[in-house]
Amino acid sequence: MPHTEQRAVVLVSGGMDSCVCTERRERQSFLAICDRLQIRDRLLVRNEALRAIGGSALTDENIAVPNTPAPSQDIPVTYVPFRNAHFLSVAVSWAEVLGAGKIYIGAVEPDSSGYPDCRPAYYEAFNRVIKAGTKEGKIEIETPLIAMRKAEIVRLGLELKAPFDLTWSCYSHEDRACGLCDSCMLRLRAFAAAGVPDPIPYATAERV
Ligand SMILES: [Zn+2]
Repeated sequence: MPHTEQRAVVLVSGGMDSCVCTERRERQSFLAICDRLQIRDRLLVRNEALRAIGGSALTDENIAVPNTPAPSQDIPVTYVPFRNAHFLSVAVSWAEVLGAGKIYIGAVEPDSSGYPDCRPAYYEAFNRVIKAGTKEGKIEIETPLIAMRKAEIVRLGLELKAPFDLTWSCYSHEDRACGLCDSCMLRLRAFAAAGVPDPIPYATAERV
């Protein structure tokens, strides 16, 4: 039998991290998830440029993470300018070296924070950039969750035994999730809509 196994690069924890504490917490989650899923080849990337540029509550310590969601038509202050392009570019570079044909990213459009780099058109355009800008032009980004509602993602994750207990979404805390920031609210709403408890600890007793 010829060796036909296809390699893929998977972006884990899109969370770009501002506060050192959140960054440390996200790294801990990333490593624990890789361990449980037995992912051997890991590339831990820390992006100093985004921190130096700032301009987001997640990368600039002078901008607070809000406890109330922004009005739906506004792009929230937690949007990190053009962040996903940085992560995707790293993934494309690594995929070229590994000979991987696919890059998976868990971007979601409905029920999301309204970040412009989570829209399907953005990924279609990025795939054209990869085609034009890599040696063989054969690497493709896949966004399997992009059209799913958050509650559907929770249900699918449970079906696939995704390690939700190891994941971290909170923008503010690192010991217990705050339950109040944008990211916590979206997560809690998703678990509530799916009718299952969120397995991670929360600081606030009140749930959505
Ligand atoms: Zn939070």
